[in-house]
Amino acid sequence: MASNAACIFCKIIKGEIPSFKLFESDKVFAFLDIQPLSKGHALVVPKFHGEKLADIPDDQLSEILPIVKRVVKATDAVDYNILQNNGRIAHQEVDHVHFHIIPKPNKEEGLSVSWPAQ
Ligand code: C5P
Repeated sequence: MASNAACIFCKIIKGEIPSFKLFESDKVFAFLDIQPLSKGHALVVPKFHGEKLADIPDDQLSEILPIVKRVVKATDAVDYNILQNNGRIAHQEVDHVHFHIIPKPNKEEGLSVSWPAQ
């Protein structure tokens, strides 16, 4: 499994940097974003280290979307954004592919989340 010793998300995956883990399988890791844009803002990442989406092998990528869905369902968010940035101009800061799940709270009722996702 490709890993990059200097990559902050590879360190999170290996447990070298603490995170609020939501889900882990052989190929996928999910955790709460350290600077959430909304309550429940989560990141789903392939364990395979690649900078951009096109760098990730298909067999790694195919496992991601079902986990994104699973994490979405662990919130009661009716509305949410799924975001995946590639490259500096596209506002990518961490050079390890990741999918943002950004719940959009209902203005009247707020948002409840029930972790973990598995
Ligand atoms: O898509 P982009 O690369 O800009 O997003 C990186 C995300 O990784 C940010 O939302 C940032 O808060 C998050 N992050 C994190 N834990 C770290 C470093 C970055 O959740 N240790």
